[in-house]
Amino acid sequence: MHTPPHKGEKVYRGIPASGGVCRGKVFVLGKGAPHVPKRQLGQDEIPAEIERLERALAETMRQVLEIQQKVASSIGLQEASIFDAHLLILQDTALLNEVSRLIKDEGLNAEFAFHTAVTKYCDALSKVPDEFLRERAADIRDVTARVLNNLLGRHSEAELRQLTEPCILVAHDLSASITAQLDRNVVLGFATDIGSQTSHAAIMARSLRIPAVVGLKTITDELVSGDDALLDGYNGVIVVNPSDQTLFEYGQLARRKATLEERLREVVPLPAVTLDGKRIPLLANIERPGDAECALAAGAEGVGLFRTEYLFINRESLPSEEEQYTSYRQAVAALGARPVVIRTLDLGGDKFVSHLDLAPEINPFLGWRAIRFCLQRPDVFRVQLRAILRASAHGKVKMMYPMISSPDEVDQANALVEKCKAELRAEGLPFDENIEVGGMIETPSAALVADALAKRLKFFSIGTNDLIQYAIAADRTNERVAHLYEPTHPAIARLIKLTVDAAHAHNIAVSVCGEMAGDPVLVPLLLGLGVDELSAAPALVPQVKYLIRSIKLSEARELAEFALSSDSASAVLARAQQLLARVAPQLLEIRTGTPNQSNSQSH
Ligand code: PEP
Ligand code: MG
Repeated sequence: MHTPPHKGEKVYRGIPASGGVCRGKVFVLGKGAPHVPKRQLGQDEIPAEIERLERALAETMRQVLEIQQKVASSIGLQEASIFDAHLLILQDTALLNEVSRLIKDEGLNAEFAFHTAVTKYCDALSKVPDEFLRERAADIRDVTARVLNNLLGRHSEAELRQLTEPCILVAHDLSASITAQLDRNVVLGFATDIGSQTSHAAIMARSLRIPAVVGLKTITDELVSGDDALLDGYNGVIVVNPSDQTLFEYGQLARRKATLEERLREVVPLPAVTLDGKRIPLLANIERPGDAECALAAGAEGVGLFRTEYLFINRESLPSEEEQYTSYRQAVAALGARPVVIRTLDLGGDKFVSHLDLAPEINPFLGWRAIRFCLQRPDVFRVQLRAILRASAHGKVKMMYPMISSPDEVDQANALVEKCKAELRAEGLPFDENIEVGGMIETPSAALVADALAKRLKFFSIGTNDLIQYAIAADRTNERVAHLYEPTHPAIARLIKLTVDAAHAHNIAVSVCGEMAGDPVLVPLLLGLGVDELSAAPALVPQVKYLIRSIKLSEARELAEFALSSDSASAVLARAQQLLARVAPQLLEIRTGTPNQSNSQSH
């Protein structure tokens, strides 16, 4: 139905977001206004183009009727009748005659002809005084988008959920909630126009082990559903119609990776200890309770960050205390006596829950997010605190607050925890009386008052994903400022050092659970700055362990000293890369790149 797939190899470069290589047919998810290409047809192409238009109209008619039937049975006949207007537009002879004329007489391709005729129609409607007629313009736009998607081979989110054939998903953007629902057996990998390495969609892709490339700028306009593509999530590349030479090279790469992965498997059961004897507790980040087993299989010593938001999204209501308790207990049970740090709710930013009625914000990352939301919604927070406390009766549970920006917030949250403990005692429900409560250091203000926070908390975990975006004022999800989002920026090293010094002065430990902790180029910098523990995505744990076992803490300290006295992020990055190239060159091959290095140029 859509224009024929591209011929010849084409390479598009974006930002590597999740390692792995896959090959398959492209499935383009349509969202927003599509780019409508204009083509001049030869006389002999016109009959086929008319046929293509008719097929797209018939397919759209079928889709609208299907939706209408579903609405009729689930909501009501009156609501379903709204779609009558859509069906009428698809049969409007004046409109369709104009589209045919543009194809036949002016030799325009079907999508351009359709788009031109509809725009004229909508412009005329918007000028009429009758409000009812003016409102029909919205119906026209809705149904037009469907026809164009069918002509261009773009699909809807509903179609995505019904997919059964394996494919490479191409979309403008993927929300954290859509990514969380992806079926690994169907979606081999994904590529998006926007996004960056620390957007929650990218983090979720790594957790699901789905190769991904983001920040490809215009990839949804460049590709059509059905294209044959190879996606390389290590290097941030998507190749359409890969040549035999490209396939041969990727075959070799796959063999080298398999050899390396075998070596990494050997370190899984071994301790994370540097060559000069420093033991580094290495834990894993999980998104769902079922991931706890993957964390252990990857050689993690526990869970350093359990992001609980995924229990709250993709559903119609809030999870009850019992439901949350069961989920947390499932992770605790899988871990036995090993620690699990359960983070309280971090909604907002790029993670939303439709049923909570969170009004759209101009700056969601600076807005009503995480602990700010929880402290103002004690009804929601209390349920989670009680569930976490109850889960603590069954293992080594720790609790952690996200997005702390002042000591006052910790005091308020701690007071609520004490209240919940008192309630549970009164109800005779067991919990760990000595449960450790820590906080994330992910705002510059938290790092700057870390000494005050250390008096109120039992441990720190540095969330570098947010700390970097807030310190440099570079949105972690925006590919246009991805070049500014530099983990090796000296400001970040200084903020981490401040945090570590304050924590150690108060005898509390500091972990890093942001994506920096999973990158072998950056881990030596963290260790050199005095970070005690690391927590990374399970898929990245073996490479981090391999790296720790390949360096001396003294080498890491030299790098950190350089970073603290440097005034150049790229100089620090170059030094960090040299160190990795010297101590564990094999790891350079399976890196998914640091954000400031990624090539964000599109084809
Ligand atoms: C971070 O900000 O580094 C972090 C671990 O939290 P999240 O990525 O969930 O915001
Ligand atoms: Mg964070």
